[in-house]
Amino acid sequence: MNDHVSVDLLKAAGLRATKQRILLLRALIAEQHPFSVEDIRAHTKNALDTATIYRTLEIFKEKNLVRQVELAQGRALYEYAGNHHHHIVCTSCGTIRDLDICLPKTLHRSVREVSGFSRVNQHALEFFGVCNKCV
Ligand SMILES: [Zn+2]
Ligand SMILES: [Zn+2]
Ligand SMILES: [Zn+2]
Repeated sequence: MNDHVSVDLLKAAGLRATKQRILLLRALIAEQHPFSVEDIRAHTKNALDTATIYRTLEIFKEKNLVRQVELAQGRALYEYAGNHHHHIVCTSCGTIRDLDICLPKTLHRSVREVSGFSRVNQHALEFFGVCNKCV
């Protein structure tokens, strides 16, 4: 499942579709959720070693296939960079939810005006709170 999708995405990114890359990309697409390297290892049933996962994630990041998510928990999380979205994190149990809302379109223009930059290409925005299981 998803094999064709992964191969097509790798080719479109100009990458050779090796078995390891297909496996890793497939796991990230299947999960649609920020993944730690340990999560990825478990999900791929230890078929990939940690060094390979890190190396492959770096390549994927360069090609914008994967995005590194900073959720201030002191560990790096990665997710498939399919569609732009944000997250909310429970500061008590660590639950992460995707958010389909984004900043108002006018904000990039305001940032440009205030900063004097000629272009704003992207932004990162994560929310922190307490989930309904932890109140
Ligand atoms: Zn919670
Ligand atoms: Zn996400
Ligand atoms: Zn956004």
